Amino acid sequence: MDFDLPKEAKLVRRTVREFAESVLVPLVDEMEQTGEFPPGLTKQMGDLGVLGLVTAPEYGGSNLGYLARMIAVEEVSRVSAAAGISLQVHHMGAAAIGDFGSDGQKTKYLPGLCRGDSLGTCAITEPTGGSDLLGMTSTARPTTDGYVLNGRKCFITNCHLSDAVVTVAKTGEGPKGMSAFVVEKGTAGFCAGRHERKMGLRGSDTGEIIFKDCLVSREHLVGNEGDGMTIALKTISEVGRAGMAATALGILQACFDEAVKFARERTLYGRPIAQLQAIQWQVADIFADLEASRLLCYQAAWLKDAGRDCAIESTLAKTYVTEAAVRAAKKAVEIHGGCGTMLEYPVQRYFRDAMVCISAGGTAEIGKLVISRAALA
Ligand SMILES: Cc1cc2nc3c(=O)[nH]c(=O)nc-3n(C[C@H](O)[C@H](O)[C@H](O)COP(=O)(O)OP(=O)(O)OC[C@H]3O[C@@H](n4cnc5c(N)ncnc54)[C@H](O)[C@@H]3O)c2cc1C
Repeated sequence: MDFDLPKEAKLVRRTVREFAESVLVPLVDEMEQTGEFPPGLTKQMGDLGVLGLVTAPEYGGSNLGYLARMIAVEEVSRVSAAAGISLQVHHMGAAAIGDFGSDGQKTKYLPGLCRGDSLGTCAITEPTGGSDLLGMTSTARPTTDGYVLNGRKCFITNCHLSDAVVTVAKTGEGPKGMSAFVVEKGTAGFCAGRHERKMGLRGSDTGEIIFKDCLVSREHLVGNEGDGMTIALKTISEVGRAGMAATALGILQACFDEAVKFARERTLYGRPIAQLQAIQWQVADIFADLEASRLLCYQAAWLKDAGRDCAIESTLAKTYVTEAAVRAAKKAVEIHGGCGTMLEYPVQRYFRDAMVCISAGGTAEIGKLVISRAALA
């Protein structure tokens, strides 16, 4: 078994790390304070090439694959998990169109998404249907011209930043009664609503999408009528959960880096606290979680690149790594003593960011349901 990363993946890590340190580091404080995704960052990520990592070259991407994407999201999130979730949800939108869209849809939407003309997104969650997908109430009523969409999506990442939103609405009853659509900004009856203010991942754009008698032609149907549940589940489980795992992995790495740095620098009783055994145990716990998390993440991405089933492995990675990031962030705050609670130290942000990763992309309970079904099968 070869644990060495392919050279393209190493290059992606190096390039994205340089970008994160030069471009994102100066933006982090302002993102925290304003709760806004910086204007201009989408284009910069497009120029870097990270927006097209899972899109085919004929549609403007590099198709370097899901391991490269995992590493890119990890490196972005190590500096700004808010930018990390924005990038990973963008990949969900691009993957839904790339995997299930028509040639016309791919030609129309993917090149702009790869360039960074706007970010992509998948708008699935509703006030009545987060964990319970079938509880959604948005409808897409067929007409002679296409479909009329009505309903409200909530907690949608990139909702104000996206020109082409992939969404799901009911065209009938039950799992086969859901269909997916790509809806463009500017379509009458389609708008982004309130902007949420969050405890963590503050610089990512989160909010509502509202459809009110929004007429779209049949060219906007993604896949066939009735494919919506399959498209949503595959995109959430294989792309979204792996992406949230990558976001949490970046936070975990940052927790480790800061915990080690502080433990070496802080002197008590005439020596660095890194020499106290209680601190060494905390660092060892963070390190063990980091190493286990990275293996789970890369395995899920490797399976996806190999074209193999990875829904369980992505869910396992998402569930384990997001909870590990919360554990690590709590320990990192504690190692910092009182400093850990001060806003000028980043570990408090890691804790808030890690907490938000638990529910985004499916809660821990839903993750454990999926994992236990596989374990008990
Ligand atoms: C920052 C952020 C970004 C997001 N981005 C997007 C996005 O881009 N697109 C999108 O569509 N959605 C997005 N979401 C929504 C996210 O996917 C949902 O929040 C998540 O699926 C949970 O749904 P909910 O919030 O409605 O919680 P609920 O479903 O109301 O869950 C409430 C509680 O009940 C528990 N629960 C529910 N069902 C069960 C069960 N069967 N057994 C045991 N416990 C259960 C849950 O685990 C949770 O603890 C985002 C969320 C956040 C926080």
